[in-house]
Amino acid sequence: MKKLIKFILAGLVSCSLTACSTPSQNTPSTSAPSTTATSTETDYDVIVIGAGGAGLTAAISAKEAGANVIVLEKMGVIGGNTAISGGEMAAPNNWLQQEQGIEDSVEQFKEDIMVGGDNEANEALVSVLAENALDGAMWLKDEINVPFEDYMLFFGGHSVMRSLVPENASGSTITSSLKTKADELGIQVLTQTEATQLLMEDGKVNGVVANTKDGEITYHANKAVIIATGGFGSNVEMRKQYNPDMDEKILSTCTVGSTGDGITMAQAIGADVTDMEYIQTYPTCDIDSGLLLYVGDVRLAGRAILVNKEGKRFVEELERRDVISLAVTEQTDQVSYLFFDENGLAAADIMDAHGHEYDKLIEEGKLVKADTIEEAAEHFEIDAAALKETVETFNQYAKDGNDLDFNLRGTLTPFADEGPYYIMVSKPAVHHTMGGLVINTDAQVIDTAGNVIPGLYAAGEVTGDIHGTNRLGSDAIADIIVFGRIAGQNAAK
Ligand code: ADP
Repeated sequence: MKKLIKFILAGLVSCSLTACSTPSQNTPSTSAPSTTATSTETDYDVIVIGAGGAGLTAAISAKEAGANVIVLEKMGVIGGNTAISGGEMAAPNNWLQQEQGIEDSVEQFKEDIMVGGDNEANEALVSVLAENALDGAMWLKDEINVPFEDYMLFFGGHSVMRSLVPENASGSTITSSLKTKADELGIQVLTQTEATQLLMEDGKVNGVVANTKDGEITYHANKAVIIATGGFGSNVEMRKQYNPDMDEKILSTCTVGSTGDGITMAQAIGADVTDMEYIQTYPTCDIDSGLLLYVGDVRLAGRAILVNKEGKRFVEELERRDVISLAVTEQTDQVSYLFFDENGLAAADIMDAHGHEYDKLIEEGKLVKADTIEEAAEHFEIDAAALKETVETFNQYAKDGNDLDFNLRGTLTPFADEGPYYIMVSKPAVHHTMGGLVINTDAQVIDTAGNVIPGLYAAGEVTGDIHGTNRLGSDAIADIIVFGRIAGQNAAK
């Protein structure tokens, strides 16, 4: 069922940006409210804007701390980018690491985040993230009843395998469990309710104006407003404003709701932003739609190599996303080809978790399964002799336990001597916007003068300075759970 939800959600965002625009896409959300709207007013303690992972987490935490909470979601469905993500969550010292005897530490995780983001992140925020990630994962498992798989994935840039995988390797497993909990707690989550403006009185945020299908409604917040509206990966104009390289030529993995609304709304009342130019592309995405391809997770299981049209490897397969993406753009046709075998497909649990995507890619000719390396290579007009040689060389490195070309981290496994073999074509697409609102370790939003904006909190991708120039895979879920909980608890005070 969850697989189906993910498939439907993926379908919702699979259209191109122009063909799939929503009324708010690429337009500032602080636009004037509809004049035909009726005006209704309602009162709550805490208003959460956005029903993705951070928003739902914050809402539950605020409610459990005793607040009367409402969640406003502009789309017709909840979940945001969290739901269409793989949902993996980095957590040092987690239960699977302990079972498998993998040594890890909060300090090591912290260092990986800092180094992975070129030491540009705010160390205090990173410390909070690293110190609370395991507690957040336990909360998801034990309080929210998120089912986790019994295997982990190794995301690029981490020094050890530490990323937990929710059932079906789907973020919708997390968001649907959060929603179930929110329902149990009696939290109202309103869809098709787009926040357009933050209200202030006596220097304190005390409400939100929203466009709804019943017209404009003003929601009053007795205690606080939490912004959890996600990033701006689908807002091409905003991307270009901060980073001209990230123009319309680059597709996006994000939902159409990722338009930076929370950033523009908060800026309108004086909030500061940071790191807006750091926009991450994910290296293995659909060449036509930009959708993130989960069949590519074979790479994260350490069971695939990336080659170019010339049949040669060109980067370490578990490098940072930005490094791999840049390397891909330097190859022929700006695409890469992921090569793997049947064992790799099984090791990454692809057919169970991402069978729909597999079938679609095969149908579209973007993934090929063949008995021999030559046959697979011919499908994409890759230099077959060179690819064969590349695979033989890699197999030797794997047997020797040392990749002399790119020093691939983790345990190296040779490819099978016999097929079937697989090759998948893909290219980079915008995935995560590292920049956003400036917050402190209490998740309070900071203004351009460096002061706390009373009554305003933010959590999740809408915030900046937590991942520096580049976010490592599976750190976003840790971020939204850790800071979502902090924002919720503090907003309820
Ligand atoms: P995060 O990972 O930080 O939780 P997500 O992308 O998962 O971010 O969730 C953000 C949610 O916020 C999405 O569901 C998105 O549709 C919603 N959203 C964005 N802008 C608005 C807005 N103006 N009003 C209400 N909801 C919004």
